Amino acid sequence: MTTAMLEDKEKPAQVRPEPATTHLQPEKTDVGSVFVSNYPPFSFWREDLADEAERVLRSPADPGTPLGLYLHIPFCRKRCKFCYFKVYTDKNAPMVGRYLESLAGEVEIYSRLESIRGRQLDFIYFGGGTPSFISSAQLRDTVGRLKRAMPWEGAREVAFEAEPGTLTQSKVAAIREIGVTRLSLGVQNFVDQILVDNGRAHCSKEIDRCRPWIRQHGFELVNIDIIAGLVGETWQTWKENVARAIDYDADSVTVYQMELPFNTTYSSHILKGEKLPVADWKTKREWNEYALEQLSAAGYQLSSAYTMVKKGHPADFVYRNQVWQGCDLIGAGVASFGHMSGMHIQNQPGWNAYNQHIDQGRLPLKRALRLKPHEQLTREFILQLKTGRIQAEYFEKKFGADIVQRFDPPLRELRGQGMLEFDRHSVRLTRRGLLQADQLLPDFYDAAYRGARYT
Ligand code: SF4
Repeated sequence: MTTAMLEDKEKPAQVRPEPATTHLQPEKTDVGSVFVSNYPPFSFWREDLADEAERVLRSPADPGTPLGLYLHIPFCRKRCKFCYFKVYTDKNAPMVGRYLESLAGEVEIYSRLESIRGRQLDFIYFGGGTPSFISSAQLRDTVGRLKRAMPWEGAREVAFEAEPGTLTQSKVAAIREIGVTRLSLGVQNFVDQILVDNGRAHCSKEIDRCRPWIRQHGFELVNIDIIAGLVGETWQTWKENVARAIDYDADSVTVYQMELPFNTTYSSHILKGEKLPVADWKTKREWNEYALEQLSAAGYQLSSAYTMVKKGHPADFVYRNQVWQGCDLIGAGVASFGHMSGMHIQNQPGWNAYNQHIDQGRLPLKRALRLKPHEQLTREFILQLKTGRIQAEYFEKKFGADIVQRFDPPLRELRGQGMLEFDRHSVRLTRRGLLQADQLLPDFYDAAYRGARYT
């Protein structure tokens, strides 16, 4: 599951009263929680800046800034009840083919832009939705066209998200053949009843079935995602989940805590007054901590607040690291998010509007936001804080800023709450802070963005 494709909610920014900056209360999992994937909040991005974004894309960019390509494949077999991404479950094969034509067409348009021409791709990320939903033939054809427009032989990473039930032996071979180095399997849970109850399309047998195929193809890194706190989870099922995740023997295990942003099926049920057995934040943190301890004992170590990687594994997560360090990113596909020369950009979120723009040879831009230098700094600070550790020297060199001085009040406050430690060289989240990293980040937002709607 990528963090890049929040379903577009074209609602105006709604400023709520600023919350008290304490993270100590017992917390119910309420509708409206967010996973912080970008800054400033999406609700502040503006349609009237789309023309400026186009001018930025048509102007030279800094060739020294790493460049990535995000490809959004917005199809899923079913919509999971906790999902908040832009996905379609009703498109037949010709419609999927039509979309893939547009996607390749968009990358071709990008390849001719002044900001892109001549630059090498550092990484490619297939996200969704479910990239593995498309057939092997569609994958090969699309990638052939993409590579002709923008060669990716020099890229350090090609990452690909997969849903276990969509994989066949030959599709895994096709995924490897196109050059994927990092395969991320959206397991979410190993217990069949929980998978069914939460609307997942796959079953546990399919998770096990694809394991030998994946091993056989020798991807540089295989990650599995699991979520603490799906509806129906108990201590007993969670322990079983963690044991099976370890037994799966992936190179990396990512543990999310279940969120309930506004646009999930669960959220709409709750807002209509339905009672759902959703674990509270304290329980989810305990489950998350248990997973981290068990994974540590099994030879994994922390790579971010969510991800544990086998000790000594050489591969890093290039996409995550580069996005969190402010790289340029082509966001291709319906509703996709990109970033160029200090400007956030989002594509048209509607199926017809997106496809029509490409048919007419136009960039499918919907809204954008120009970041001020201090906002770029804050963006990188909060995203990098998700790794659990920040080096002050990085910000000194890149922005000429002393982050410890700049963020002195929230740093002191969060230190007082036991969430982090800091000195003039670094900021380090404590285990307690790591387990609730996303809830801490808004404390570092500019006052104008604090308490505002996120999407
Ligand atoms: S697999 Fe489920 S959670 Fe993932 S994008 Fe599709 S509907 Fe959303």
